[in-house]
Amino acid sequence: MILILSADTDTQGEAYRQLFQQLEKLPNVSARVHQVSGSQQVLTEIYLIGDTSALSLEQMQALPCVERVVRVSQDYRILGRHRDESRSSEFEYNGVRFGQDNLNLFAGLCAVDTPKHVEMMMRALSEHGLVCTRMGAYKPRTSPYAFQGHGKDCLPYVFELAGKYGIRVIAMEITHESHIREIQAALDDTGHPTGIMLQIGTRNTQNFELLKAVGRQQEFPILLKRGFGITLEESLNAAEYLASEGNSRVVFGLRGMKTNLGDPHRNFVDFSHIPVVKRLTRMPVCIDPSHSVGIRAEAPDRLPDLMHAAAQGVVAGANMILVDFHPNPAQALVDGAQALRLEELPWFLDDMQIAREAYERRVARAERHRRENAQQE
Ligand code: PEP
Ligand code: MN
Repeated sequence: MILILSADTDTQGEAYRQLFQQLEKLPNVSARVHQVSGSQQVLTEIYLIGDTSALSLEQMQALPCVERVVRVSQDYRILGRHRDESRSSEFEYNGVRFGQDNLNLFAGLCAVDTPKHVEMMMRALSEHGLVCTRMGAYKPRTSPYAFQGHGKDCLPYVFELAGKYGIRVIAMEITHESHIREIQAALDDTGHPTGIMLQIGTRNTQNFELLKAVGRQQEFPILLKRGFGITLEESLNAAEYLASEGNSRVVFGLRGMKTNLGDPHRNFVDFSHIPVVKRLTRMPVCIDPSHSVGIRAEAPDRLPDLMHAAAQGVVAGANMILVDFHPNPAQALVDGAQALRLEELPWFLDDMQIAREAYERRVARAERHRRENAQQE
């Protein structure tokens, strides 16, 4: 059960103290406080854990500071979309809003290689009014002999260049808890010119200790990628780990499933799960067409498979696109085979806009259908 406190609740105040006095009297129920940063304000929510079946909504609603009470099902207690609720599913970070109703584009380098390429990428983004990017510094590689990313050494110039070109959020994968501190230190050293969305890659979706560590920090929002060989339910539970540790600013990423049935694509595209994730949870949903499709092959209509897949995701209501670009894919140290070229960026943006407009028209059409049918009843 979740108690949502009124927005003006003073957590140092008398009413709040009284609320806790009452909660402590409940047998076999413990209370856990969550601060939820929405786009407007910070809300306090109290999670009642344990035997809450005997508690009535009315009884809880009458407690001091409580504005609303939500009875949650067992699954995805914090991130889930529960039956009797309309809690907001959005958050804002560094001036960028993430929700189930909008779309943010994160085009960038799969892996940081040279300052020159980082700058070319950032400049191209800013020329097109984009404020988010992806930049890999810590790369989990299949072979121990493959390039592992420049790690913390590249962070100062990546952050400074992001600041120079007005980039507000960089999605950056981390593979170890210590990387959070390295990112924090580099942001401090460079004067916080940009923001970071910590990315948990598909290989770490069920690295529970990493999830707990990332969930414990409140500074950065998180992009959690679906595990490539586990069920959707298992991946959504992984997201819930983050929230249960205190950070519910989580975007859920679809990036294709590992199976040869998807050949010749690198992974089997799973973007048809976008509406499923939105129905089951309140998380914005990201698609990664690059790591799903994995090749630059194009169809007879002259559109790359990768853009077809991205458009399919956007037409189905994706909220974020993570996509690999590179100024010179032949020189990329990681995943050059799937990188779009910088000169393709305006084309890609136009294509995604066409797809987004189609999605919005589809939503409006569905709404019209619903209204018309309701009138007939
Ligand atoms: C990536 O985005 O760079 C990446 C390694 O993705 P994934 O975890 O989906 O393989
Ligand atoms: Mn990659």
